[in-house]
Amino acid sequence: MDYLEGLNPEQKAAVLQTKGPVMIIAGAGSGKTRVITFRVAHLIRNGVDSFNILVLTFTNKAAREMRERINKMVGPEAKNIWMGTFHSVFAKILRVEANKIGYPSNFTIYDTDDSKSVLRAILKEMQLDDKLYSVNSVLNRISAAKSSLVSPVDYQNNPQIQADDDSSKRPLLGKIYETYVQRCYRAGAMDFDDLLFKTNELLRDHPDVRNKYQHKFKYIMVDEYQDTNHSQYKIVKTLAAVSENICVVGDDAQSIYAFRGANIQNILNFEKDYPDLKIFKLEQNYRSTQNIVNVANSVIANNKEQLKKHVFSEKENGDKIKVMRAFSDNEEGKLVADAIMFQRSSNGLKWHDFAILYRTNAQSRSMEEALRKNGIPYKIYGGLSFYQRKEIKDLIAYFRLTFNPNDEEALKRVINYPKRGIGDTTVDRIIVAADKNSITPFEVIIEANRYVEKAPASLFAFAAMIQSFQVITKNQSAYEAALHIAQHSGLLKDLYEDKSVEGLNRYENIQELLNGIKEFSEREDIEEKGLDVFMQDVALLTNDDKDKDKDADTVSLMTIHSSKGLEFPQVHIVGLEENLFPSQMSLNSRSDLEEERRLFYVAITRAEYKLTISYATSRFKFGTLISCEPSRFLDEIDAKYLDLDFTAKPVSAGGSFDDERNAWSRKADTFSKPKAAAAAPVKTTSILAKAHVPSPGFKPSDTSNLQVGMQVEHERFGFGKVLTLEGNKPDVKATIFFKEIGQKQLLLKFAKLSII
Ligand code: ATP
Ligand code: MG
Repeated sequence: MDYLEGLNPEQKAAVLQTKGPVMIIAGAGSGKTRVITFRVAHLIRNGVDSFNILVLTFTNKAAREMRERINKMVGPEAKNIWMGTFHSVFAKILRVEANKIGYPSNFTIYDTDDSKSVLRAILKEMQLDDKLYSVNSVLNRISAAKSSLVSPVDYQNNPQIQADDDSSKRPLLGKIYETYVQRCYRAGAMDFDDLLFKTNELLRDHPDVRNKYQHKFKYIMVDEYQDTNHSQYKIVKTLAAVSENICVVGDDAQSIYAFRGANIQNILNFEKDYPDLKIFKLEQNYRSTQNIVNVANSVIANNKEQLKKHVFSEKENGDKIKVMRAFSDNEEGKLVADAIMFQRSSNGLKWHDFAILYRTNAQSRSMEEALRKNGIPYKIYGGLSFYQRKEIKDLIAYFRLTFNPNDEEALKRVINYPKRGIGDTTVDRIIVAADKNSITPFEVIIEANRYVEKAPASLFAFAAMIQSFQVITKNQSAYEAALHIAQHSGLLKDLYEDKSVEGLNRYENIQELLNGIKEFSEREDIEEKGLDVFMQDVALLTNDDKDKDKDADTVSLMTIHSSKGLEFPQVHIVGLEENLFPSQMSLNSRSDLEEERRLFYVAITRAEYKLTISYATSRFKFGTLISCEPSRFLDEIDAKYLDLDFTAKPVSAGGSFDDERNAWSRKADTFSKPKAAAAAPVKTTSILAKAHVPSPGFKPSDTSNLQVGMQVEHERFGFGKVLTLEGNKPDVKATIFFKEIGQKQLLLKFAKLSII
């Protein structure tokens, strides 16, 4: 079994345990994803039919990469494995089974914009206050209900759920939810949450279908299990009920989607669901240097709620974690760009060895600006997706309407684009007539004379055009049909005539989409390649799924949320400031703050060899310059792991920001690959920090005159005594013995201490 050589004994044991329920809850970088990859290869090598394997990943990208690796190990068999995100896998199954739950197999997938538009229309019809019933909050409530498998009827009949939703203030939430579901159904559309909700319904109500998939998926594996919600948990449980060959891997310390309904309880339930569960522990981190692993451990130890874990690295100690201070967000961008250029040239690295991670999308602006100024190529992951651009959505709306004329959102989008003299009043009349006669808007249009007052002739022409597209898509290849629709809808011409830079850009984007469809129609590895097949997954695609620049040598920019599961030799985490990271919203509850801390843990553990953290002391927010304080997370890192060399000079002592930067870039900052013989392992155990509630009126003191022996109170670590003070102002490090958690070294300038 040579192919299992690249595994340590625990990983190997987990791979070989192919029968029965298996759970691996282990720290970052310990090889969880690798175990899944090897497990699949092992199953196939041992005669399991690849069609019987289901692997659920968190992103399409992760699935693609895993498939490539398995392909290297077992060859083309890899292509038959069912592998992808929950949404993409179950959308595929729903297409096959749609008519069982009253949907057409060419149902549309509504994206968030579509859902909001449906809700906006409903709220307008019901004449509700759009502050009290804001579209975003209503959509969130509906999404939460669906993720917990609460139907509109359950919602309206369950006082507890209504109380949780504070529906005394918004008594019509249930009614809105019901109407929303009816509208989507009438349009032959499912939103993202429906893909899971309806799968549950399908499996629950149709024993034949349930049976079919329970026997089909003999081996099921789920990566990033800590971020599954109740709806996903239920699907997995149902599918695995017959074979019970189910393996889930995850890390509770990396659970970062509670705000979207992910439920850590799913990990705990797993033990209850399968009493004969085999649990495997992976403790060695193969990704990061010891310093990085130690910092990650020290940060997460501040969380009260966590499963105890032991994570260590046998790699070299590596560089300390560099902390950079900037005076503004733009300066921060410059610092990061300079650091990347310096590291790349002095260590012979590639641009793709670097990642910049931030808490919020808005932070990418200052980073992008600095990278562009320096000619550094970069790619933003998970930003506004290519498929979310207006022109792309317009053309896709024509495709959607062609395959599903009941798709109301697509209809509204293009009925008068390009302009053809069908005004808003006419559109409103069509919708009203559809509601009144319980038919779809497209059916109204076809017989407009009967239903709509003063129906313009262009309405008939529009209906005839869509019907002609339906014929074309049946007879021509995906590419020919798409091109025909782009031309005959008038969309291509409209964009072509706009000679502004943006217009040109939009035209090029349409060309790019058409090229993508062309490539799709020429693919040899799939049989069905009509435009309808291309369209099926399009709503689920993100920016990262465009293969075009997959191998490009670029710096990666992304939010921490989208960096899950990834790794980079050098990582910059930017914007470590109070109210940004942790975010302002998270400061009201312990559990929200702990989720932010887990997010920080995820960010730290993406780095292989070098980690740099930065913060700005001022930043533009909503158009005004505000001053910022360093994040509390900085003071949670044991100072012995930090390198503050170049941030050390206080501005007040005459050092300028430029001096700091020059001093820093002159420093020969060596970056070395791991040495063959690693030093003895430093094993670190996480200490569970007990919750400390600060005394009433707790206020951080000025610590510039702190003396050894003084008694202090720390905001979270509690009461303690100063043992030693080292270093020069303003980078004085204090070693303090805290009653509750023991000895800790803190940087005074970050520490929130009150002298008592
Ligand atoms: P995360 O929690 O971040 O998702 P993970 O537990 O899934 O991490 P992997 O991504 O599977 O970890 O592994 C981390 C890195 O360590 C990868 O580069 C992987 O190839 C490497 N690795 C894991 N196990 C071994 C091993 N036994 N020998 C060599 N390299 C390994
Ligand atoms: Mg992983």
